Amino acid sequence: MNVMANYPDYNPEDIQRELREILPEEAISKGLFERINNALDPYTSSDDIDRGMVPYAVVWPSSTEEVSQVMKYANTKNIPVFVRGSGTSLHGASKYRHSGIVLNVGRLKHFSIEKDNGYVEFGPGHRVLKVKQMLEEEGYFLPLVPGSIRVASIGGIISNNTSAHAVDSCIGKPRDYILGLQVVLPSGEVIETGTKSLRRPAGTDLTQYFVGGDGLLGVITGIRMQLVPMFASAYGVAYFHNELSSAKAVQRIYMEKAPMPLFMEYLDERVARMSFAIQNLPEPPGSLIMFHSIGQTEEEAVHKVNKLVEAISKEPVIEAKRITDMDEWHKIWLARESALPFICQGGKGVFGLSEIASSVRGLVDCMEDTINMDEGMPTLSKLGKPYIMGHLGALSLHPVYIFPADWSAEEKNKGIEEMFFKEAQINEKYGTCGGEWGQFAKRTPFYRKRYGDTVYGLVKDVKKVFDPNSILNPDVFRD
Ligand SMILES: Cc1cc2nc3c(=O)[nH]c(=O)nc-3n(C[C@H](O)[C@H](O)[C@H](O)COP(=O)(O)OP(=O)(O)OC[C@H]3O[C@@H](n4cnc5c(N)ncnc54)[C@H](O)[C@@H]3O)c2cc1C
Repeated sequence: MNVMANYPDYNPEDIQRELREILPEEAISKGLFERINNALDPYTSSDDIDRGMVPYAVVWPSSTEEVSQVMKYANTKNIPVFVRGSGTSLHGASKYRHSGIVLNVGRLKHFSIEKDNGYVEFGPGHRVLKVKQMLEEEGYFLPLVPGSIRVASIGGIISNNTSAHAVDSCIGKPRDYILGLQVVLPSGEVIETGTKSLRRPAGTDLTQYFVGGDGLLGVITGIRMQLVPMFASAYGVAYFHNELSSAKAVQRIYMEKAPMPLFMEYLDERVARMSFAIQNLPEPPGSLIMFHSIGQTEEEAVHKVNKLVEAISKEPVIEAKRITDMDEWHKIWLARESALPFICQGGKGVFGLSEIASSVRGLVDCMEDTINMDEGMPTLSKLGKPYIMGHLGALSLHPVYIFPADWSAEEKNKGIEEMFFKEAQINEKYGTCGGEWGQFAKRTPFYRKRYGDTVYGLVKDVKKVFDPNSILNPDVFRD
């Protein structure tokens, strides 16, 4: 049964037949497996999807024109459309609660580097890693680096405006690099936003509504992004007696005005031990931060790393050093990159990952609250303290719980709910709102509480202007 009653119920076969009139046969998945698979997020299994939630069809348009035809059709028939990149949202944005059409952007894959214009244009359907590799081949850097780089779509990342591992105060967010977009509105109209110049528009620029628009206002079908020339790099690591000292060291870096690195990643001692062992690295003496600084020249990058080591060394630290052995750096970085699968293997279960952002001043207290997030939570307290890793330089922490494989789905769900409850509570306490994964779906109630009814109402009004029939990703508002 549809959760939201204001959409007509259709027979999936009728919808599939009508879609065949506007799309080629190979662009429509009718099979139950594809339909269910395209309605799940990382925390759901097919058991959590009841019949009324199964999409009528999954469509795979290969051009903006085809996207436009699908949207026109859906808008006329008042059918919800769920835009899907890779479905890796960790806040439920890619889990659907009633039938509709899933519009998978996976075939929108044009790509052209315009060096003499200083930008690159691409479709939203590429995996992030693919875009990174294609840019690197030409000597450019992709300024967004999510943990999901191998699976997430570049369009999903841009819709969430997440820079992920990268430190915002060094390199900014995707929004700072997007020059313009091609977007299909819920009505099916195609619009262009932004500019072809590296001189960005002053004043109102609709690009900014769609980058970080959480897929609420339109379907992004083309992206123009500024080219970022590759830079020189230098690396460092610091080990601490405990988690709170690591947080204190990061505060110190900000207070000392040391140059923020591109990456400053954190592993607590338990996670570091587990992931170092798998990389055959010596056992780490404590929790750690690893950092990657950039500069126009190697000297500049090394200078920045040395400044960080100097600032960190003013706090109680077991060791802080520049890493010159690239093999050591690659192993440490790989330990970080693959920490999540290692924790899942070690803990033998399903991961539950949340995201807490701190203010600079609150970082030590926020770390403590995160360590203690099981307190007062009946399900989480069965598991004890979370594993913690994250982008500490960017002030983001990822507490991780492993829900044992033999727990019932209901118990796992309770644990996940408690985890997000605590996430919201801590983010609210520090006046933050999370820095990754977007703002809606599971975070919607938090968003409303955090910013109040006026702001929440304005967001819904903006949505209504772009999407008067509320057909695009309507599930994220729960009222
Ligand atoms: C193991 C793992 C690690 C992760 N690491 C990170 C991390 O480090 N940082 C981080 O921020 N996130 C991370 N994530 C979460 C996730 O990868 C991001 O939220 C990512 O932005 C989602 O991309 P996607 O292609 O899977 O989008 P989906 O989950 O398919 O969609 C996300 C939202 O964007 C909308 N959307 C997608 N494409 C478009 C489009 N073309 N036009 C309009 N709307 C669109 C969707 O409708 C939906 O609302 C991780 C997830 C996993 C499973």
